[in-house]
Amino acid sequence: MNIVTRFAPSPTGRLHVGNIRTALHNWLWAQKMGGRFLLRLDDTDLERSTAAFADAIHADLAWLGLAPDLWVRQSDRFALYEARFAELQAAGHVYPCYESAEELDLKRKILAGRGLPPIYDRAALKLTDAERAAQPVAPHWRFKLDHDQPITWTDLVRGDQHLDPKLLSDPVIRRADGSWLYMLPSVIDDIDMAVTHVVRGEDHVTNTGLQLQMFEALGAKPPSFAHAALLTGSEGKLSKRLGSLGCDEFREEGIEPLAILALLARIGTSDPVEAVADAAPLIAGFDFARFGRAPARFDLDELKTLNSRILHHLTFETVADRLPAGMDAAAWEAIRPNIERIAEAADWWAVVEGPVESVADDLDYLAEAAAIAADLDWSADPWHHLTTALKEKTGRKGKPLFLPLRQALTGRDHGPDMAALLPLIGKERALQRLRSGH
Ligand code: GLU
Repeated sequence: MNIVTRFAPSPTGRLHVGNIRTALHNWLWAQKMGGRFLLRLDDTDLERSTAAFADAIHADLAWLGLAPDLWVRQSDRFALYEARFAELQAAGHVYPCYESAEELDLKRKILAGRGLPPIYDRAALKLTDAERAAQPVAPHWRFKLDHDQPITWTDLVRGDQHLDPKLLSDPVIRRADGSWLYMLPSVIDDIDMAVTHVVRGEDHVTNTGLQLQMFEALGAKPPSFAHAALLTGSEGKLSKRLGSLGCDEFREEGIEPLAILALLARIGTSDPVEAVADAAPLIAGFDFARFGRAPARFDLDELKTLNSRILHHLTFETVADRLPAGMDAAAWEAIRPNIERIAEAADWWAVVEGPVESVADDLDYLAEAAAIAADLDWSADPWHHLTTALKEKTGRKGKPLFLPLRQALTGRDHGPDMAALLPLIGKERALQRLRSGH
């Protein structure tokens, strides 16, 4: 079977961490199964969808490394929806309704007052042709659920699912102005694009029930479904904050895409979050059976910690294009353990290249160091040779031995391992810095 997944955001806003997680699940499954990952922009709401949001979705996915194999937008596909809608109409699977929003609201209130669920009463189904013809307004359309057909499926995350169609309202699929609601075009596209796995959040479980009957009505075998439990913030619910937390803020925080993938691939599953070196272990370990039913807890602090751990292992090749000119693999490896975000590498590179302002005051000692450094063999481990010789000569050890050197050579009290840094600074600059107090 050729596996096809799809990520179907509406371009009515930026992707947030919950959407990103859904995109990732779809991407991981497609990668793991050697399948294809599609992006479908659900832009049937022409008023709220914008080209700018669509562009941002493409850009965010590219930045995350989740670029789709193919993308489509629903606004290009209205002719297909029209044709398939006509089939449903001819077969009696859809029916026109004329109630206003106020009328429907009143009906729901009456039901609620009697303690009943707000299920549409199908009044429009009972209209005669003459009554329909006499309606002063254009109809909106509902899909007629088959009340005799129990809705069941085996969800890849949630296991066996059952919904009673009698307890569901016939969903409105098309507005009076002819525009489409989400429900039916999604099914038509899933069929047309041969989607094999619909992977999304559990807020869509009821939609799946409705959509299963639409697949049936359109004569198609439904795909498999996987509904992941939703994300919660560290405070316990999907906060407003999570709803607006996306790639821009991650980037500003210096978070690596890989850290985002590593966290989002594992939260809500029984597998530990790991500081992976690339996406391969996330792909290999991805399995719906590992998902739990409890909400997945997202914690920005956990992401930041994971980000540093991942950063400390990133290879030079992965980051080279974001490092300052001249920085090579040895420099990256020397500096890498001391940074929390890649942009900080430039600060340390500036320290290597200088000039640095000396904060040392132990001038006689530094003069001693300069004399030794001038005669050192700089080709192998100069820091070791310098400090060993200084120790012998001065009897110093520990902080008094090392700190004045670090201060003179870097202008700072803390920083990367001097053994790695000193060869990068090099003989000429080192001598100059050690002598600079004189
Ligand atoms: N546009 C829908 C959403 O963002 C897609 C849901 C689906 O995956 O079918 O919720």
